[in-house]
Amino acid sequence: MQVRVTTYAYPWDLARLGVERALREIVDLGIDAIDLAATYHPIDALSPRDGAARLFTSPRGAVHFPARPGRYARIRPRTSSSETCAVWPEVAEHAAALGLAVNAWTVALYQPWIVDAYPDCARVLPSGDPVGSSVCAANDDVREYLATLCGDIVDQFGVRMIRLEGVMPAAYDYGWLRPRVLVDVSPLARALLALCFCASCTRRANDAGLDVVRLRRLVQGAITAEIDDARATTAAAERAATLDADAELHAFVIQHERASIELAGIATSRFEASPSPRVSLSSWTPYSTLLGADQNALLTELIDLVDQVALFPEWSAERKRRFASVASDATHAVELAVLVAPRGARVLVVNPATAQKTAEPLTKELADAAALGVAEINLYNFGLLRTRDIRDFMVAVRTAFSSSPDRDISR
Ligand SMILES: [Zn+2]
Repeated sequence: MQVRVTTYAYPWDLARLGVERALREIVDLGIDAIDLAATYHPIDALSPRDGAARLFTSPRGAVHFPARPGRYARIRPRTSSSETCAVWPEVAEHAAALGLAVNAWTVALYQPWIVDAYPDCARVLPSGDPVGSSVCAANDDVREYLATLCGDIVDQFGVRMIRLEGVMPAAYDYGWLRPRVLVDVSPLARALLALCFCASCTRRANDAGLDVVRLRRLVQGAITAEIDDARATTAAAERAATLDADAELHAFVIQHERASIELAGIATSRFEASPSPRVSLSSWTPYSTLLGADQNALLTELIDLVDQVALFPEWSAERKRRFASVASDATHAVELAVLVAPRGARVLVVNPATAQKTAEPLTKELADAAALGVAEINLYNFGLLRTRDIRDFMVAVRTAFSSSPDRDISR
C-alpha cells in the first residue's frame, strides 16, 4: 500500500487506555503515525473503547500538552489536567521505540478559552458583537502565542509534523452553542458576517488607507438587506454587483485572507529542532463569495508555506481538484492528505450548502482520494472507534489504493 495512514487521537483517551498499549495497537493495525491533540477546541466525545462508554467534556477547549508558561508572552496556555498533559512525553518516548511517528494536532483560532481570558482577542462581527468561540488571526497576541506554542511543542517532543487546523476563520456561527437562527441567511450575508471588525482588523484596514467606517456601514447595510429579502431577486443581484465592484471592500476581504496566511507563516517560524517538522494545513475560507478571481492566488500563497494540505470528504469534487492543482503547482513538493471519519462502511459528509449530513459509501471516498493522488489518509479518531472499525477501515484503504490507477490529478 503506497498511501500512509495516520490516526487522530485524544490524549485523554490514551491516558485512560494506557499509552504504551494504545500505541502498540495503533502500530499493529498498520498505522504509520499518530496525530495527537496538542491543543483542542470545545468537545463532548463518547469513547466506546474498553468496556463502558466514556465521556470526555471540554466546554471551552484547552492546551493538552505540558506547555512551559514562562516562554509565553501575554496569552498563557490554559492547560488541561496533569494526567492528560502527561500523555505527551509518554507518547514521545514509546512512539520512538515502536517506530510510530508523532504529529501535533494544533487548533489555531477556535479556542474559546482565549476569548474568556483575553476578550480583546475575539473576532468581532460587523455589528460590533464579539464572537465567543474564536480569536482573530490578525491579533498580535494571538500570533505571538501560536508561534510560541508551536515552537514549544517541537522543542519538547520533536514531532514529525505540525498539523495546523483552522488558521482561517470559520463561518460567523461556527462553534455556536445551540445556535438559533430563524431567518434565511444567504451565502452573501454569511460571507459578510464573517468579516472581522476587531481592533486589529480595523487598525490594519486604517493603515492600508481603507475607510473602515464606510466599509462597516456598507457591510451592515448589505447584511440587513440580504436578511430582509434572501430571494434571488433583481435587487439581490444588484446588491452583489455593487459589492463586487467596491475596490475597498475587496481589499478588506483580501486583508482577512492575508491575516490567516501570515498567521500560518508566523506559527511555523520558530522551530529550533533540526530537521524542522513538516507542516500540514487544513484550509477553508468563509469569503469564497467575495474573493472572486483572487481566490486561487491566495490559496497558492498559503500552500507555498506548507508541506501538506489536508482535504475534507465533504468538499465538492471541483474544490478538491482545485486544491490538488494548486498543490501540484507549488514551488516545492506539497502532498495531499484526506481526513476520513468512517461510520462503518460509510462516511458522514456535510453538504456545505444545506449543512445536512448524508452517509456516503467509504469505498467511494477512498477511491476518489486514490484518484486524486493522496499520499496520506488521516483516520478520525482512534479513541472514538472500536478496534474492529479501524481494522475494517484499513482493509478498505488497502483495497482502494491497491486497485487505484496511476496518480491523476489533472481530471
Ligand atoms: Zn479581527
